[in-house]
Amino acid sequence: MKIAFISAEVAPFSKTGGLGDVSSAFPKAMQGLKHRILIISPLYKMIDAKKFRLQIVKKNLTVTIGEKTELFDLYVSFIPHSKVPIYFIKNSYLYRDGIYGDETGEDYPDSAYRFITFSKAVFEALKWLKFSPDIIHVNDWHTGLLPFYLKTEYREIDLFRKTKSVFTIHNIGYQGIYPLEDIVDAQIPEIYFSEELLGFYDQVNFMKAAVVYADAVTTVSSKYSEEIQTKEFGYGLEEYIKERKEDLFGIVHGIDLTVWNPKNDKLLVKKYDSKNLDKKAENKSYLQEKLNLNLSKEPVLGIISRLATQKGLDLILEKFDDMMNLKIQIILLGTGDPKLEKKFKEKEEKYPEDCSINIMFDNVLAHQIEAASDMFLMPSAYEPCGLNQMYSMLYGAVPIVRNTGGLSDTVEDYDNETGDGSGFVFESMDADEFFKAVERAVKLYKEEPEKWTQLQRRIMDKDFSWKNAAKRWEQVYQYALNKK
Ligand code: ADP
Repeated sequence: MKIAFISAEVAPFSKTGGLGDVSSAFPKAMQGLKHRILIISPLYKMIDAKKFRLQIVKKNLTVTIGEKTELFDLYVSFIPHSKVPIYFIKNSYLYRDGIYGDETGEDYPDSAYRFITFSKAVFEALKWLKFSPDIIHVNDWHTGLLPFYLKTEYREIDLFRKTKSVFTIHNIGYQGIYPLEDIVDAQIPEIYFSEELLGFYDQVNFMKAAVVYADAVTTVSSKYSEEIQTKEFGYGLEEYIKERKEDLFGIVHGIDLTVWNPKNDKLLVKKYDSKNLDKKAENKSYLQEKLNLNLSKEPVLGIISRLATQKGLDLILEKFDDMMNLKIQIILLGTGDPKLEKKFKEKEEKYPEDCSINIMFDNVLAHQIEAASDMFLMPSAYEPCGLNQMYSMLYGAVPIVRNTGGLSDTVEDYDNETGDGSGFVFESMDADEFFKAVERAVKLYKEEPEKWTQLQRRIMDKDFSWKNAAKRWEQVYQYALNKK
């Protein structure tokens, strides 16, 4: 198959979270199955053109947005350690330093226009490349208008006549909802703004556009595909999702083992695997020293997260003192909501020798925390797929998670009788329930070290490769191709 994979963020070029990781790992996996796949993404200014050896393909291509014309340049590079080409749309006026907003955390006010232009630039780039995709695979709201354009403005173009679109929902909490004035430049005929099509309470909703227009809709775990059909998790889109139930698939991501694997992770001071956990301990003491923590043998609990309500961080804050009373250490890495940042910083002041709060985005530290941690906290209110719990398992940091979305698909509660399970799971968004799971984990670590080590070894040897997921993806693509 010929596939065009379109995403607003692609690691290591640009990344705010899991979408970035998946947008490079997934195309690599599909290329591994001998499909011809290319990626298209915006060229943000923070992308280091020299380091990534970007080559110019074509200058001054144009996109027409109603009566306006935007110019862009097309660049190409490759996903590291692969032959997957990634094409970049360069327009420095629209694609600035940040992906969605500036460093203050404020979203750019013109993102509707930025991503409309990007969506149409994708078609223009494919035209220039003479690439006729069987599948255009788009991700989250930023690229949500592509399936709409494919079925309207670009339908009659030979190159796209047979093309089908697949839309993946990575997080339904972010839909791209804008007042109609924000997309007025696109001059989309009014008939498209009915509630069945693009309209959403007199506004336009990019994610909904894709849910309506894509030939197949997917999300990133089986449990989440059920959850988003309910009021609690659907964020107002549940009815539209239900209408696409027949065309909806839930597939958990794999892990890019060239990037996240303690056996060959160059960002660690000591590489290790399940047979030499003493080397994992060296990573722990290294990080304790680097972050000025006590060189203690007590369990280290890691957190690497966008600081957003979604991630259940209030539960952690509520039980912070109780957790510290269990004689543990906490290392957090994250950015986001300033109120959460401040509350965590206050905890660091209270426990300077056993708690390290790092408010920054730092990929090296992320890898080192996975390697140093004995446990990993992810008490998410909702979690479409979640990668960190899988990274944690591979790095021998036992995940403590809530039973939701992808966490539910990937972590099984530990049973002290049988020794089965892969982490500690709790049910509801309740601080006491969360704390009980932490207590169970800490107790096992401290009182039954042999059982703990067995658990650690087992989760490290789990198969999180893309093998199975990629095969299922082929079936989804085939399904979309067969659609009328
Ligand atoms: P989400 O996509 O909801 O943010 P995931 O668990 O799927 O959550 O993926 C998070 C990804 O982002 C992981 O690769 C994680 O290491 C990374 N990440 C999150 N916050 C930071 C940070 N502050 N610094 C470095 N990496 C981070």
